[in-house]
Amino acid sequence: MSEVNLGTIHNPFAEVNEKVAKAGEFLNLKPGVISALSSCEREVVISIPLRKANDVEVLTGYRVQHSSARGPRKGGIRFHQDVDLNEVRALASLMTWKTALIDVPFGGAKGGVAVDATKLSAIEKEEIIRRWTRSLVHLLGHQRDIPAPDMGTDAKTMAWLMDEFHRLEGFQPACVTGKPLELFGAPGREEATGRGVARIAAATLTENDKKVKGASVVIQGFGNVGKFAALGCEELGMKVIAISDVTGGIVDRKGLDIKSLLSFPTLADAQVDERVGSSEVLEIECDVLIPAALGGVINEENVDRIKADFIIEGANQPITSAADRKLREWGSIIVPDILANSGGVMGSYFEWTQNIQQFSWPIDKFRRELDTRMEKAFGQTHKISKKYKVDLRTAAFIVAVERVAKAFEMRGSLV
Ligand code: NAD
Repeated sequence: MSEVNLGTIHNPFAEVNEKVAKAGEFLNLKPGVISALSSCEREVVISIPLRKANDVEVLTGYRVQHSSARGPRKGGIRFHQDVDLNEVRALASLMTWKTALIDVPFGGAKGGVAVDATKLSAIEKEEIIRRWTRSLVHLLGHQRDIPAPDMGTDAKTMAWLMDEFHRLEGFQPACVTGKPLELFGAPGREEATGRGVARIAAATLTENDKKVKGASVVIQGFGNVGKFAALGCEELGMKVIAISDVTGGIVDRKGLDIKSLLSFPTLADAQVDERVGSSEVLEIECDVLIPAALGGVINEENVDRIKADFIIEGANQPITSAADRKLREWGSIIVPDILANSGGVMGSYFEWTQNIQQFSWPIDKFRRELDTRMEKAFGQTHKISKKYKVDLRTAAFIVAVERVAKAFEMRGSLV
């Protein structure tokens, strides 16, 4: 087996815009409107000097605000060595389509810092996020732009962001979501993305007359999304037969015990008989494959070896456009990122509303609302897929682009 190149989309923003243009054609949008929806409202690049023992290392940070047509911009902050402007643009744009598809009153944004989060001490991480917040504070706020965690950042990082924001602008807990429970976080938010991914996997099997109980699942990524997706699949009766993180993958065809894996710092510490590479895990035969780590991991180089009937995109843009075309030709059913992993921003919306109202929901209410609203988006996407006789990704973009285009035109942005 060969190790594939990870995270390689030549131009991720262009790939998102291809989908926007295709949806725009179905909707008969004017070329100027498509062009406006394919551009970012604002792009900011900052430098972040990080103190080292005897010197300073200068990192590059980003915030891209793609659209505010339907509300304040919303999107995570990623700390990863491969972060660049094009990737942040693509992810910001995806947030616009995701928030529109699930019909929450937000636009789209994304941020990042090009740095290997696994090599940072807690103090360095805190220094970076505080500097990022100070540099961008004039663009942020609960009615302007609301960050959240993404790869390499977590609830703790969001707590530092909130604290820095409060020092500069005063008390506004809704300025960021994905916060710790002890600091205005919402019970249910941490698990929301993975929970949604697992439920979408189950709904997809059912929609295609396949049994959920006993269905085999393979997951790439054992971070926030991967862990909770694995737990969710297990809870719904599916069998997670393989999972990987950056240290490699583990396999047990009888089904892994996910809860017992949670106690290990990385999967390298788990006691198992069969191991595979981080990306080889994608090539294991299974009913449901959930890429939940990086973008571009299913690409022209490895697509011929993918053997899953259903692919649920836990990560953003895990499949390149070229690989996506091939998989669909072969009959694979792909649930796109903007639907499959939208539980995260749905959960962020619940946290934001609770912070604004200074009111807290019990976790059961959070889960019920999440499941109901995701089922609704799933149903709408399938309805449009049948109406236009298109794949689920195109259908999801048709729903989302129509909503954003309407808001854009009604606001008079064409004048
Ligand atoms: P995370 O940092 O919590 O976890 C990332 C996981 O991927 C880790 O287990 C890491 O070891 C693994 N990983 C990194 N490089 C890898 C490699 N080369 N091979 C295999 N595994 C590798 O990140 P996350 O929050 O779980 O995000 C994962 C993906 O889901 C990203 O694409 C993110 O944009 C997307 N996403 C996250 C959320 C959210 O709420 N966290 C919401 C929507 C989408």
